Amino acid sequence: MNLQELVRPNIWSLKPYSSARDEFKGEASVYLDANENPYNAPYNRYPDPLQWVVKEQIEKVKGVSRENILLGNGSDEPIDLVFRAFCEPGVENVVAIDPTYGMYQVCADINNIEYRKVRLTEDFQLDVDALMKAVDAKTKIIFLCSPNNPTGNAFPKEEIIRVLNGFGGIVIVDEAYIDFSDKGTFLSDLDNFPNLIVLQTFSKAWGSAAIRLGMAFASKEIISVLNKIKYPYNVNQLTQEQALKVLANADQVKDWVNVLLNERQNLVEQLNQLPYVQKIYPTDANFVLVKVGDANGIYNKLVEQGIIVRNRHSVTLCEGCLRITVGTPEENKTLLDAMKAI
Ligand SMILES: *Cc1c(COP(=O)(O)O)cnc(C)c1O
Repeated sequence: MNLQELVRPNIWSLKPYSSARDEFKGEASVYLDANENPYNAPYNRYPDPLQWVVKEQIEKVKGVSRENILLGNGSDEPIDLVFRAFCEPGVENVVAIDPTYGMYQVCADINNIEYRKVRLTEDFQLDVDALMKAVDAKTKIIFLCSPNNPTGNAFPKEEIIRVLNGFGGIVIVDEAYIDFSDKGTFLSDLDNFPNLIVLQTFSKAWGSAAIRLGMAFASKEIISVLNKIKYPYNVNQLTQEQALKVLANADQVKDWVNVLLNERQNLVEQLNQLPYVQKIYPTDANFVLVKVGDANGIYNKLVEQGIIVRNRHSVTLCEGCLRITVGTPEENKTLLDAMKAI
């Protein structure tokens, strides 16, 4: 793979903004270089543009070197960055599975990049041949999401590897739900696939959706390109501090995941008892996709009880389906009681 051929020429030759924090690195006693207010410490100072202290901790937890990590304002930021790095507006295209996470298409549309959807099979598996058929000389990125949203299933690793080997452009594997899956992350495969970008997030298992922190893992060369185009201080100091707190509590996260996996199992068993539940799709995530037939009717009845699930009735291959997030034992019981009464 030749990265220069994949990156837009204007991005490849871009001279990035150089901040005060880029030009002087290290410790000093008097900082008069960034036009900051000397009062109101510590929030008067610009944060580290490359968030090295946070990345050092992520390196320990994830086993990926800090130079292979980009942090963003949620995963949404790296999703947008890859369009801007690799895809020429009005000219080039990306290929993605359908159904999947809605932000890929929104970012494609914002950037005026053609978005080619390739249906999953009826049981939500990858159709690798159809994906490859949708690729042409102008295809820069393939988006995969595993475990997939809203279907919940993770794809077999061999199938994703077929895509990584068969496509000369960038392959994104969005692993937002990987902590709930036993199918295995691609983080340990970064060295084998120079075209791979893995996305993870603090928003799901890490219980930190409010701080807006997403992670992209890729080769040093890809990370350098994305670093050039991100806003200089894209992850604020409050977020960095809170991320360090949650990273120091990795055991707590494991406990949460275990509770949620037990609850998921229980939820599936209980939902299966309901007469109007036609199908519960296998899930590797912290949610279940449930085919109930009259999704709109059941959705509305739950709303009347103050219980909000996601109605996926109008999504490709998800007709009649609700997507239900696994909550606390109490929340799940409230949901099940309400559904039993319908
Ligand atoms: C929830 C989710 C994310 C997380 O997005 P953030 O911007 O990090 O909150 C990413 N990808 C998928 C598929 C998701 O469902």
